Amino acid sequence: MTAKVLDGRALAKEMKEELAGEVAEFKAKHGFAPTLALVRGGEDPASVSYAKVIKKNCEAIGLGFTAHTLPEMASEAEMVELVTGLSGDASVHGIIIQEPLPDAIGPTAVLDALAPEKDVDGVHPLNAGRLMQGEGNYFVPATPAGGMEILHRNNIPIKGQRAVVVGRSNIVGKPIAFLLLHQHATVTMCHSRTVPLGDVTREADILVAAVGRPRIITADMVKPGAVVIDFGMNFVDGKMVGDVDYEAVAEIASAITPVPGGTGPATNVMLARNTLEAATWQVAS
Ligand code: NDP
Repeated sequence: MTAKVLDGRALAKEMKEELAGEVAEFKAKHGFAPTLALVRGGEDPASVSYAKVIKKNCEAIGLGFTAHTLPEMASEAEMVELVTGLSGDASVHGIIIQEPLPDAIGPTAVLDALAPEKDVDGVHPLNAGRLMQGEGNYFVPATPAGGMEILHRNNIPIKGQRAVVVGRSNIVGKPIAFLLLHQHATVTMCHSRTVPLGDVTREADILVAAVGRPRIITADMVKPGAVVIDFGMNFVDGKMVGDVDYEAVAEIASAITPVPGGTGPATNVMLARNTLEAATWQVAS
């Protein structure tokens, strides 16, 4: 193996220590802890397990945490009422709405009920629009924000680099494409209709995989020396694997995030950082 391992766990540990200090300062100054409210409809196992990680993380950093779960059969009106209530609750500073939402609940009405200044996962159209424009104060979804933090803290140059993002979801692919663009990378986005995918990915100095298909990025699709960021979280035979064929790609890349232990831990800590930022903006306004 030749690639440098971009260790998300080490980064998360370092950032948690920094954040714990900042949260303690906030509490000393304002007399309360920034608090994150988690909203979920139903008991999707991945969401339940992610919620536990978020709670543990908040507690470790000193943030307040509350969970609000509606039954799978909940109506859109009930979900909107819950999110509206939390948006207006002064003791709540950040709100994360877990996906998937139950089938009966469309995302548009729920997102419209979310206060943009509490939208710490950057899903409200106002935050998404500002991210696209690259202007003003806005929240960036935690997952792509974590990916960028990994690049920055490992001093990986972005300006002038060819970046290729595979996946165009609103929560991972599109936001990281804009973040890379704002840092002056030349960005290409790929998706399920990109053919042949390898012809595009081989051009990447920075290759980002946000697909959700185990090991879809094989070594022959990667330019030697590329930096590879893998957001994929797939389960094969009970084991978590990324979108990148890690062992083979690590032989030719210059740096790569492992799965698990790469972008996942970075995501969690960015959500906490956004919550502190949200509380800081709210007390200042
Ligand atoms: P989505 O399913 O919303 O999007 C997947 C994207 O991949 C789509 O744009 C889709 O294209 C594209 N795609 C699917 N198949 C192919 C293919 N064969 N070739 C090229 N592109 C393809 O997923 P998410 O963005 O929500 O998540 C992506 C991955 O990241 C998942 O594994 C998820 O578990 C993980 N994830 C990780 C997080 C972390 O903390 N590390 C947090 C959030 C997600 P099209 O648009 O054409 O359908």
